[in-house]
Amino acid sequence: MAKAKVGKKTTGIAMELPECPVCFETMSAPIFQCQSGHSLCNSCTSNLCPPICPICRQAMTQMRNLTLEDVIAKANVPCPNKSLGCVYTMLTQEVDDHLKECIFRVMTCPLGAVFGKCSWTGNLKEMMDHFKDRHPQHCNINMETGVELNNVSINEDERFLYLAQQGNLLFIVTMKIDTLQKVAYWVVQHIGSKKSAQQHIYEVHITSKQDPRRQVIFIDHCYNDILSADAVYRLGKCGILPLDMFSHFIHNKKCSFKFVIKKGTPKPKKFDKSNTSNENKQPNAPKHPKPKAGFTQRNKSPGPAKHHNVGSKK
Ligand SMILES: [Zn+2]
Ligand SMILES: [Zn+2]
Ligand SMILES: [Zn+2]
Ligand SMILES: [Zn+2]
Repeated sequence: MAKAKVGKKTTGIAMELPECPVCFETMSAPIFQCQSGHSLCNSCTSNLCPPICPICRQAMTQMRNLTLEDVIAKANVPCPNKSLGCVYTMLTQEVDDHLKECIFRVMTCPLGAVFGKCSWTGNLKEMMDHFKDRHPQHCNINMETGVELNNVSINEDERFLYLAQQGNLLFIVTMKIDTLQKVAYWVVQHIGSKKSAQQHIYEVHITSKQDPRRQVIFIDHCYNDILSADAVYRLGKCGILPLDMFSHFIHNKKCSFKFVIKKGTPKPKKFDKSNTSNENKQPNAPKHPKPKAGFTQRNKSPGPAKHHNVGSKK
């Protein structure tokens, strides 16, 4: 088979990835050969006029180098954003998917994406500064007191979006009132890879303004920001409250919620009831197999009363 003699890119599995001897780009299928066996990348082959091998001057053929294509398909390649700091390596066919979630990609403002009106682009490191500068009301979150929402009504569509920082990770917190679907929902998304998102669990605590004993808590794992918050809602994998229930949490058009984000088990291991992942260590932890869609009710251990459950009392 063709030896990767021209290659010099060191990959994750410490092999050299062949480059096209003409354009020096990493080759990808289809790879064509000349009559004496030189392999060129597809674009160089199709640009040859006349179709003569630039190395040996023999005619190019339609014969593909399937072995080399296979080697390349199985090789780990570095992220194209490596020079910006990404250390991720992956199979060549995974590059496109990774680039969508690579934290070193050029990003657009999450607020702009949802509401329009902001055309900021930049990298992840600059995003929080951009929010502090241009959207301070969307990132100043007091984790102690939570998020105060004003002018809330179950008869009006509304969407709230916040950028939250946890260590050096960023999360997008969305709360939406959807009068058409008759629900309010909460989604916490991690700006980063799917894997990293899966490793983060969030809790949203919504407490009634009038009666603090009335509380609902959602626990779920984060999705990343490739999906829109609406798409996560459509999956049903977020905190969802029917508007008639949500109405009990609004007082004088105000409501508030708190949230915490923590690193959790990547995947709840087993569906057995004794599963005690670290976010479920409370004595009355839900017996759900995993933190999942819909709302999870439970008693907070030091809570003021034993009935936070929504919709069941009163
Ligand atoms: Zn080439
Ligand atoms: Zn040749
Ligand atoms: Zn990357
Ligand atoms: Zn912006």
